[in-house]
Amino acid sequence: MGWVCYPNSHSYTMTAVDRKFIIFTWGCQMNEDDAEQIAGLLMQMGYSPTQIAEEADLAVLVTCSVRAKPEQKAKSKLGELRVIKESNPSMIIGVCGCMAQKEGEQLRKHRPYLDFVVGTANISRIPDLICQIQRKRGFLSSLELPRAPKDALIVPKRAGRYGESIKSFVPVMYGCDNFCSYCVVPFVRGKERSREVRDIISEVEQLSKMGRKEITLLGQNVNSYGATLQEPTKFAQLLRKINDVDGIQRIRFTTSHPKDLSDDLINAMAETPKVCEHIHLAVQSGDDDILEQMNRRYDTAHIRERVSALRSAMPDIAITTDFLVGFPGETEDQFENTVRLAGDLRFDAAFMFAFNPIPKTAAADKSNQISESVKNQRLNRLIKLQNCITCEINDASIGKTYPVLIEGPSPRDPNRLTGLTRQNKTVNFPGSGEISGQQIDVRITEGHLYGFVGVRV
Ligand code: SF4
Repeated sequence: MGWVCYPNSHSYTMTAVDRKFIIFTWGCQMNEDDAEQIAGLLMQMGYSPTQIAEEADLAVLVTCSVRAKPEQKAKSKLGELRVIKESNPSMIIGVCGCMAQKEGEQLRKHRPYLDFVVGTANISRIPDLICQIQRKRGFLSSLELPRAPKDALIVPKRAGRYGESIKSFVPVMYGCDNFCSYCVVPFVRGKERSREVRDIISEVEQLSKMGRKEITLLGQNVNSYGATLQEPTKFAQLLRKINDVDGIQRIRFTTSHPKDLSDDLINAMAETPKVCEHIHLAVQSGDDDILEQMNRRYDTAHIRERVSALRSAMPDIAITTDFLVGFPGETEDQFENTVRLAGDLRFDAAFMFAFNPIPKTAAADKSNQISESVKNQRLNRLIKLQNCITCEINDASIGKTYPVLIEGPSPRDPNRLTGLTRQNKTVNFPGSGEISGQQIDVRITEGHLYGFVGVRV
């Protein structure tokens, strides 16, 4: 049982379906979307998904290199897969994503069992590489980054991921030209380039036909969408067009760089009924000098003004953020400014990290690095404050009723259903049955750090 590859061609044809794949994903939504595209390609080849590594014929790791932890996890997963491959030598193991792009063929140096490494712009080459590996071509890699704005904008067709999800990611742009001094993304995902409006709309229409109800538009900075198009289009215009696609109930997007958050976009969010009242606005620091050293190109006055503009246009909006503490040279006073900003702006939630020097980035070479213990102390203090704010905000919703898009049974309790509010907060409530994809009203009875418990109205 197996599938046949035709040499000298990028096509592949199935003779039988008896092969399984497993994908491990770490990192941001971009990596999750890469994983969904890879799953789609593999399912078109006739592979079927499994959750059990021991029964997989093919294991793909989609990795992040923005934080240290995902890299460590991916490398330790590779060690586990090596052991499995010892008893199943025909198993194919590949690494994709940012870490693959950053480390390239070096990844194989101490891992002779690795079969392929594929960079962030080469996902569509995976079937071809697998065919070649099957023909005993040995280790292969595909790591070229796009040189022109139009390169690598083809999104492989999706075949649906694990089951009938009601949600999907839709990349609207790739790469980033901002070069924040701590971030490796511009080096591993290439120059900023936007997809054509018609391609995005056509993909959203396809997803709607597949039964998807909620889409999340992805880009490293969606606010600068369209700059590389021949007929430049603003992200606000794109949102208005997607709002008109039948069948889609909710539209989300991420991530928004504060420097490019325009009034035009805020108005589009407020005026388009399907665009949800949630924005992830990555603030990073509450200190102007640190922001300058991070090359973020905004100051805290701008952040305060934009948050206030968002809240006056959409009083029930949820605003989430990122904080990066312990940037090289950050003083106690500068950290206090971040604590003050977090306390003043009261974000609904935050991803909080300690600075981690990443090779290639400007901040990695700075001589005034902060010690691990100070970074951890500051991080813990900020987490404590933010968790307290998140709980207070969620407690204040008790008694209110929200429309919840049901995703299915709660993974922790089969007698409960789980779903999201338009503000992107999880709600668990008693119920069962196949009603995923329906939107119902739920009254909140408990507020928690993760979201809510409620009852169906
Ligand atoms: S905007 Fe800055 S933090 Fe975001 S991906 Fe680009 S370089 Fe990285």
